[in-house]
Amino acid sequence: MTEKEWLDHWDKNHVWHAFTQMQDYDPLVIDSAEGIWLKDIHGRKYLDGVSSLWCNVHGHKHPKLDQAIRDQVDLVSHVTLLGSSNSTTVKLAKKLVDISPNGLNHVFFGSDGASAVEAALKMAFQYWRQKEEPESRSRFMALEFAYHGDTIGSVSLGGVDEFHKLFRPLLFDVVRLSSPSHLESSPELEDGIADRYLNRIREVFKEQARETAALIVEPLVQGAAGMIVHPDGFLRGLRMLCDEFNVLLIADEVAVGFGRTGKLFACEHENVTPDIMCLGKGLTGGYLPLSATLATSKVFNAFLGEQSDMKTLFHGHTFGGNPIAAAVALANIELFEAPGFFDAIGPAVSRLQENLNSILHHSAVKTTRQKGLMGAIELHDEAVGSGNRICHKARERNVLLRALSNVIVVMPPLVTPPDSIDLIFEAILYALDK
Ligand code: PMP
Repeated sequence: MTEKEWLDHWDKNHVWHAFTQMQDYDPLVIDSAEGIWLKDIHGRKYLDGVSSLWCNVHGHKHPKLDQAIRDQVDLVSHVTLLGSSNSTTVKLAKKLVDISPNGLNHVFFGSDGASAVEAALKMAFQYWRQKEEPESRSRFMALEFAYHGDTIGSVSLGGVDEFHKLFRPLLFDVVRLSSPSHLESSPELEDGIADRYLNRIREVFKEQARETAALIVEPLVQGAAGMIVHPDGFLRGLRMLCDEFNVLLIADEVAVGFGRTGKLFACEHENVTPDIMCLGKGLTGGYLPLSATLATSKVFNAFLGEQSDMKTLFHGHTFGGNPIAAAVALANIELFEAPGFFDAIGPAVSRLQENLNSILHHSAVKTTRQKGLMGAIELHDEAVGSGNRICHKARERNVLLRALSNVIVVMPPLVTPPDSIDLIFEAILYALDK
């Protein structure tokens, strides 16, 4: 066998791929990239229609991001944040405080989105232990169909049966809140839908708030739930309920943060400052694992005291806040700060909308959803794996996509030109017709 054939063989036999049925796995081994294009070991190119799992922002091999990594390697590659620091990670913390919703003044670094969520859970839980009501507040509220990562704490928050049900015996109980899901109606079509859901949720708050440490929500769009788009005012309403009933609000911006919804952070759309905010994925432009859990001073101050008070946050990961990842995160944010960045992606957002509107007429398509550069095509076919079968076929037209059950996700890098959005839909239509 040639080396390339060996690579395919080893990939199939030795790499256990995430969220992939290995019995059917058809190896796709990438070995280089440029902008929005990936190239496999056989020389075939693929448009990265899923932003390497929703994280790539400015394209691959961006010269400024690449250089930031090289420069940092010349200084130091890793130092622990357990009791010490490094200048690059400090600068990133300050930058995140400056650009995030007002009041989030403290940054705890982890590595993946799930580790940001775990840190948020422990912060919220410990916060109440160190406040006035030590024993009572140990529960969390999360939405139906929630998805916050794959570690056991974040899976406990999860409400996607396909991924989470099996593990129930291992998980803690969560107060489940109604999600304004697409199942019932399209948010744009019906006035007052946010209030309808908020009223239902208020009833749950009345019963459960006194035992609740925090409510966690993906602001505006529940990504892995199948791109459920919340109606205007829903996030703001949740913030108001949390204020009224004295419950912490955790915003999981792992998927929606860094420009996906058309603003840097989804919370900006509704002028909301959460008590705790989780960032990951696009934080490094999609280059390296790094996550951040931001907290307000109200939360942070509850952890201050003498060593012997045992108020320390006893939590951390070896590589949290790694300086190479922090360097590329700073360079990533600098690119967002270029004048007119969000205006420049407007045409791609419109083109996505046009394509979604026209594919809606295809007989296999049940509905479509969109927020910014997050798009979803829901198929009528609800058979297990139906979406990924279409995505696999779309590879024949040089487009790489991934589905969530029967929902095809279209989430290319933010810098994708409008014509390339057309290419993605041509590939999807080809696959649907086949
Ligand atoms: N929260 C949300 C909203 C996510 O979409 C994801 C991952 N898709 C996570 C958390 C977990 O992030 P990671 O895969 O980096 O652990």
